Parts: sequence; C-alpha cells; structure tokens
Amino acid sequence: MTDAKPCKKPWKATVLTLYEDMFPGPLGQSLAGQGLKDGIWSLETVDIRGFASDKHRSVDDTPFGGGPGMVMRADVVDAAIGSQMAENKGFPLIYLSPRGRPLTQKRVRELVSGPGLILLSGRFEGVDERVLEARNVEEVSLGDFVLSGGEIAAMALIDACVRLLPGVMGSKDSGAEESFEKGLLEYPHYTRPREWQGHEVPEVLLSGDHGKIKAWRRAEAERITKQRRPDLMAGAVREED
Ligand code: SAH
Repeated sequence: MTDAKPCKKPWKATVLTLYEDMFPGPLGQSLAGQGLKDGIWSLETVDIRGFASDKHRSVDDTPFGGGPGMVMRADVVDAAIGSQMAENKGFPLIYLSPRGRPLTQKRVRELVSGPGLILLSGRFEGVDERVLEARNVEEVSLGDFVLSGGEIAAMALIDACVRLLPGVMGSKDSGAEESFEKGLLEYPHYTRPREWQGHEVPEVLLSGDHGKIKAWRRAEAERITKQRRPDLMAGAVREED
C-alpha cells in the first residue's frame, strides 16, 4: 500500500485590484517567488474593472458632499467581492486602508494559520463606506502614512504571511528569533570579516559560550527596544517564557 499523503491546498491570496499587472511583482522573486513556484502558496488577482456595468466601465465617481478626488463605487466593488466569496469560503476579507488597525506580526501569524486571504486594494480616495459595512470588511493599515494605492500594501501583507509558511524560509528557526516575535526588536547581527574598518565584532559572539551569547542578545534586544520603541516593552515576553 502506498502512503496517501493528505493533499493540503496551498495557502491562497486573492487580490482585488485595478492594477492586476502589478502582480506578482516582487512576490515572484526570492523566497516568496520560490514558494509560489513550489505551490506552497498561490496567488489570484481579480480585475475590479471587470465588474463595472456601464459602457465606460467606470469604477469610481465623485464624492457625495463634495471634496477632492474620486471614490470607488459600492456596486462595482461589491460585485468583485461577491465573485470570490463562494470559492474562498471562510477566508478573511481585508481592505488595505490607512484607517485600519495597524498590522502586527501577531495578526500576520493568525492570518497565515488560516486558509488564505481576500484582499481589496483601494485607489483614489478609497471605497464607498457602504460596501465595507455590508460585507463586514476588516481594515488593515501598514502604518500611519498614505500610499497612492492598496497594491503595495497588499504585497507587503502577503509577503509577511508567506515567508512564515512551512517550506518557504530556509531555516526552520529563523522566524522565531526575529523582531516582534518576542515583543522586542531584534538584537544586532555581525558576520565576517571579524574586523572591518577598525570595528571589531563584539567579543562575546566569538566566545562559543551559547549561554552568554543568548544573554547578550537578549540584553541588546531589550536595550534597542527601550531606546527605539518603548511602547513595545510592556508586551515583551520574559526570557523564561
Ligand atoms: N483618502 C484615504 C487615502 C486613500 S489612499 C484616507 O485619507 O484615508 C488610496 C488607497 O491606498 C487606499 O484606498 C488604500 O487601499 C491604500 N492605502 C493608502 N495608505 C495605506 C496604508 N497606510 N495602509 C494600507 N493601505 C493604504
């Protein structure tokens, strides 16, 4: 009898966008790109414009109440979302938006443990509020700044997820030590040469004493986090944990 391996579906990202040609873009390179080729994850793009119903194929219109810019129409965006719901049942539906909850490594871990994502990339001033409410869309932000569109934000979110999929990153452990994983920023790294322009590598790293190295790295991580991101310190995981 042959061992029938359970055929697990790859983690899947579906991106609704007005700029399908931007994909896979950087996601087709390096670790994410190899994972895509290996079938560890899959990517589908959906052209929102394909769901426009008028003869000009318009996806946006002027805002009620006046003001600058254009707004993506609820009916068009809703139809694009609707086209993906049956095939991706139970997938989180996320609108990349500066009004969203800022993305964290914790949320990335949650998202990558699920089957995949449906991502809505905005353009112009954003999307008609009614479709966000009607579809119960989660808004996620990359940070407190404004991009010209959601595509780069979608790529960033997908990249953060797929690098955590088993088989994508080279070393099994390289995810666990990183910035944010223990609520701290990462300790500094050094490689050859041992002396560079008169700067030596910290002596402890050459000692071969793994206990001392671990303690030094922890202390450095705490020092850097206190200095740069004191807001993170309260949530840091203690060393014994
Ligand atoms: N008028 C909006 C900004 C629109 S920017 C506002 O002031 O809130 C156009 C699109 O870029 C948005 O619809 C969103 O999809 C994307 N975008 C811009 N900044 C972003 C950020 N910080 N995080 C995630 N997506 C962002």
